[in-house]
Amino acid sequence: MSVWMGMPAFPDAARKALADSQLRANLRAATGTIRAKRAAVVAERADWPELRAAGRAIKDRALRDLDNHLSLLAERVTAAGGVVHWARDAAEANRTVVGLVRAAGAAEVVKVKSMATQEIELNEALAAAGIAAYETDLAELIVQLGHDRPSHILVPAIHRNRTQIRDLFRRTMPEAPPDLTDDPEALAAAAREHLRRKFLAARVAVSGANFAVAETGALVVVESEGNGRMCLTLPEVLISVVGIEKVIPTWTDLEVMLQLLPRSSTGERMNPYTSVWRGVRPGDGPREFHLVLLDNGRTDALADEVGRDALRCIRCSACLNVCPVYERAGGHAYGSVYPGPIGAILTPQLRGVDADPVSRTLPYASTLCGACYEVCPVLIDIPRSLVHLRAKVVDVHRGTPSAERAAMTLAAKTFASPRRFALAQRLVRFGARLLRRTRLPGPHSGWTDARDIPPPPDHTFREWWATRTDTPVVDHATRERARLDSGTGAPERDGPREDHARGAGGELGAGNDVVLGPGGAEVLARVRSALGSAREDVEVPREYAHAVEDDVDVVALFAERAADYRAVVRRVAGDGGGTAAAAAVGQALRELGAASVVVPDDLPAELLSQVDGVVLRDRGDLTVDALDRVDAVLTGCAVAVAETGTIVLDAGTGQGRRALSLVPDAHVCVVRAGQVVGTVPEAVAATAGADVLTWVSGPSATSDIELHRVEGVHGPRTLVIVLVD
Ligand code: SF4
Repeated sequence: MSVWMGMPAFPDAARKALADSQLRANLRAATGTIRAKRAAVVAERADWPELRAAGRAIKDRALRDLDNHLSLLAERVTAAGGVVHWARDAAEANRTVVGLVRAAGAAEVVKVKSMATQEIELNEALAAAGIAAYETDLAELIVQLGHDRPSHILVPAIHRNRTQIRDLFRRTMPEAPPDLTDDPEALAAAAREHLRRKFLAARVAVSGANFAVAETGALVVVESEGNGRMCLTLPEVLISVVGIEKVIPTWTDLEVMLQLLPRSSTGERMNPYTSVWRGVRPGDGPREFHLVLLDNGRTDALADEVGRDALRCIRCSACLNVCPVYERAGGHAYGSVYPGPIGAILTPQLRGVDADPVSRTLPYASTLCGACYEVCPVLIDIPRSLVHLRAKVVDVHRGTPSAERAAMTLAAKTFASPRRFALAQRLVRFGARLLRRTRLPGPHSGWTDARDIPPPPDHTFREWWATRTDTPVVDHATRERARLDSGTGAPERDGPREDHARGAGGELGAGNDVVLGPGGAEVLARVRSALGSAREDVEVPREYAHAVEDDVDVVALFAERAADYRAVVRRVAGDGGGTAAAAAVGQALRELGAASVVVPDDLPAELLSQVDGVVLRDRGDLTVDALDRVDAVLTGCAVAVAETGTIVLDAGTGQGRRALSLVPDAHVCVVRAGQVVGTVPEAVAATAGADVLTWVSGPSATSDIELHRVEGVHGPRTLVIVLVD
């Protein structure tokens, strides 16, 4: 994985960053804002602890049986028409992607924000092969145009303010108007214009994925701007590079992850868009789908019983936003694509704790205050991992002479003997009184730059204790010796664990050979070796809420929450014949000024009875350019979620293919009251088995410029919901 070339050790990089007062101000404002948003939406959930416990168990369950889940995922993706590739390291992943792009005859690709592809430096590998890669997430675009580096997981350009972005766009974007202002709306519009043609013309897209569901072979991408939907839907070939730790065992597990991630990440009940797809769907989306499953050091982390916790990470960035070290030093100081507390434990494990100065020093980039653990949605005990990694760094250098090591050896000998310890205390007290210094000399002076040496106490604790009680002071070593002498035996250890190791072929039979290949066989062998025989069957506690309270009016709640996320909601009475709904649809389109509207071919005709403009029926024959010229799209949906104000489209009756509800600038969606469910778990259950899903919560949006929310980026700028009782 990539540690950025030439990056100094964390202390040096942090010192430089601390001198940048503008950076510190940007970070303070941004992290404070996201913290407050997250706290507000988390506080809405009384069952947040239960959701976190479930999230941890789901990821642990996946990791403790990773080889079997990966095998199943590969089999399901293949069965759904996808092609699975395995990459043992970054070079193999890059070779695979370059080969696929060349085979598609493309000279450029559009990209969805993906940390895995940054980790393997895919853009650089593509450039070396003469292939241009265009980042399409607004923040990633800013980073790419500025030849810069991301500094935050969620808002990679958090270190840039709006004026800097305006100047960058003026300099690097041919489409940007010369009088472009630093208004975030204008900047987002310029980015939309810049990327629009690329989206519509791209033949190949590259993405990552937030989750990969082993049970169904579904991939899940969670995003806000609609650039993800554009990349996942419009090109002919889709290549998804996904770390092997992104697998989750079952479809039901999504009901937990889709609640934990948005609230922890953007501080929303639900992010604007979530795309789910399985393999290839004829007539809807890419004709080819390639899944590249990436190891690149993950199996090394898996082999470490403490360090493997980091593989639970769902990249929400909540730990960054509460970290006092990150808030002051910023993301670049962490020297790799993974900044903040998660980077401090992930980078050294993927690279090796002694691989370079960055990896060696990152475990110390923390005060161990524990704030990261408090907010982590999957309960990663980052401080515990940091201490563990510090011990590993020390172990690597054990035996190398140094002044610190000599001092520690002396201290260890002193602390190991009560007699020596008491003698040392007396010597220190005597010396301090004699010298009467408040500062330490020489290389130790740093300790006393900002504080004085306290005067030594008149008595040590032991001396004080001896004057007040007859109880002898018994040290731990003496107690332990006595316990052993009394024959009570060694301290208890964990009981023997059941050996659940599978055979070399896993549980899935002959199908494995078809989808594995040599790369897959080796990755799975590494996983098995990392897990050894100490497998555990992890139970997932599902004590979180599955339904809203009985007295909640879910339809009213849906209307309220959808409006919260800036959808325009028109609630009309159902009249059996659909006249009221048709009137509301006609009215909505008139207010949008839509002279043309595209509809799925199977949309009920009565909904169009009061539409004034041109109506195009899509039979799968409209080109993307034709869709781009249409003013609006009218669809139904599969289900709507009250607690998050989300509509879910599954490409079923009256919904059409995914491009339909994506390319036109306004989306009018008819939702029947009977389609509204209360919660995310109910919606996940209702859509099990779907080949494609698009979860939509309001219009597309970005907060990538100084966290100022701008509606309408690449997806429709307006969402109108006609809610029919
Ligand atoms: S470690 Fe936890 S809080 Fe930090 S990014 Fe990962 S999941 Fe989020």
